[in-house]
Amino acid sequence: MQSKHFIDGQWRESAGGGLLDVINPATEQVFHQVAAGNAADVDAAVAAAKAAMQGPWRRTTGKDRAKILRAIAEAITSEQQALAEIEVRDNGKPLPEALGDIGDAAYCFNLYATYAEELDARQGSRIEVPDARFDCRLKYMPVGVAGLIVPWNYPLLMAAWKVAPAIAAGCTMVLKPSEFTPLTALELARIAHAAGLPNGVLNVVTGYGRDTGARLALHQDVRKLAFTGSVATGISVATAAAQDIKSVSLELGGKSPIVVFDDADVEQVVEWTMFGIFWNQGQVCSATSRMIVEQGIAPKLIDRLSAEAKKITIGDGMKDGTLLGPLVSAQQHKKVTGYIETGRGEATLVTGGGRPAHLNTGYFVEPTIFADVKPSARIWNEEIFGPVLAVTTFKSEDEAVALANTSEFGLAAAVMSADLARAERVADAFEAGVCWINCSQPNFLEPPWGGMKKSGVGRELGTWGLNNFLEPKQVLTYKSTEPWGWYLK
Ligand code: NAD
Repeated sequence: MQSKHFIDGQWRESAGGGLLDVINPATEQVFHQVAAGNAADVDAAVAAAKAAMQGPWRRTTGKDRAKILRAIAEAITSEQQALAEIEVRDNGKPLPEALGDIGDAAYCFNLYATYAEELDARQGSRIEVPDARFDCRLKYMPVGVAGLIVPWNYPLLMAAWKVAPAIAAGCTMVLKPSEFTPLTALELARIAHAAGLPNGVLNVVTGYGRDTGARLALHQDVRKLAFTGSVATGISVATAAAQDIKSVSLELGGKSPIVVFDDADVEQVVEWTMFGIFWNQGQVCSATSRMIVEQGIAPKLIDRLSAEAKKITIGDGMKDGTLLGPLVSAQQHKKVTGYIETGRGEATLVTGGGRPAHLNTGYFVEPTIFADVKPSARIWNEEIFGPVLAVTTFKSEDEAVALANTSEFGLAAAVMSADLARAERVADAFEAGVCWINCSQPNFLEPPWGGMKKSGVGRELGTWGLNNFLEPKQVLTYKSTEPWGWYLK
């Protein structure tokens, strides 16, 4: 099977004619090929988006766009099973998780349909100014052509987080999925087109980041860049954006802490910690990969975590009962196993660390836990993006908060304690955009999502996500017939 780019409502071969293999990480087999895009493909997609921005799309209301967003949500829901199965083959994640992602993507389109309608009500709203001779009206314009660059860990969902608000705002866009997981973005283009999205509003170009994403980031007709991915790529995207002062939002990596106090319910801690680091094979930007545990509870907790980690069923994501699938790619497998080797020299390996004995092929790694991890260790400081938990201990609340915040990242942080006042105090002290009390990872699409420090710039989701794609404009009218008085008085 082969797929082409989706540009201006048409399926188009790559200008360079190249193809990119898509590999099933559970079998290491190529099961599909997509167009390997280049700068000419990106230019064609941006030109289509620019033309669409100047066409009838510009005059649509939020209500018009809400109708399309709801039709997209409906189609995603009716194709949920097929889309989830594509996601499993592309990314490796277990089918129930993929079904959840697709459901969340549909929810995202419905949510931004509501926000699009609310935008109509916001248009023309007034701001009180302290001089009655003036009327100040607000107008929200779409930013223009948006470049949307997304990673491979939640392929359709990460695309939905950007495409849905961009449509709600009235932007046109070029979406660049990860070279490892390009398929559901192309399905989204097909679905959106069938749902009534005009030609050129959503274009999808597949290919390597250096050939396509980099061109998109530099393109002078792109007015907004919304990027999710690694810090290194985020820096290059932001640098490109700075060349012509594009608006840029960045959702980058993390090394999120989970602070556990002695009074926490051990079984609750076990469940949330396992979910927080092994869900999606640990390939989660907000994964709570650093456990900071109060000394008294540490030995018992580490024993319980180790026992539970050993019980996890590892295998092909399509197989019933699989809880942990393969990592997404050979590169990611090499990176994660490299960190595990580093960890063996820096800390105490409690469990895991290898390839599951029953799986000879596929990019599988056992759930892995390291204890006695020093704050100077690489596995404590660097984002591994795999099923690897690093554990250290603390004696006082201040020490726990300092350990949690001593990181170049600031995406998420969790605290577990029976003392809610203390938990709230610790959550308030966390330098992170997303904080959890007595849980880790649950996420709703209405609150803001995003990180501090090197975890990013700006916020997605909720109305913050919509505002990313809007230019607020003030229209100030002088209502009085009196002279303004600068020189006429
Ligand atoms: P990545 O940076 O390698 O790639 C992300 C995207 O950027 C891909 O589409 C890639 O093709 C493209 N790209 C690569 N080089 C480029 C360039 N020079 N210019 C423009 N685009 C380029 O990241 P990844 O490995 O796909 O994803 C994993 C990373 O994403 C992790 O660090 C993770 O924490 C982060 N992430 C963050 C969030 C969040 O919400 N903060 C969510 C998911 C993933």
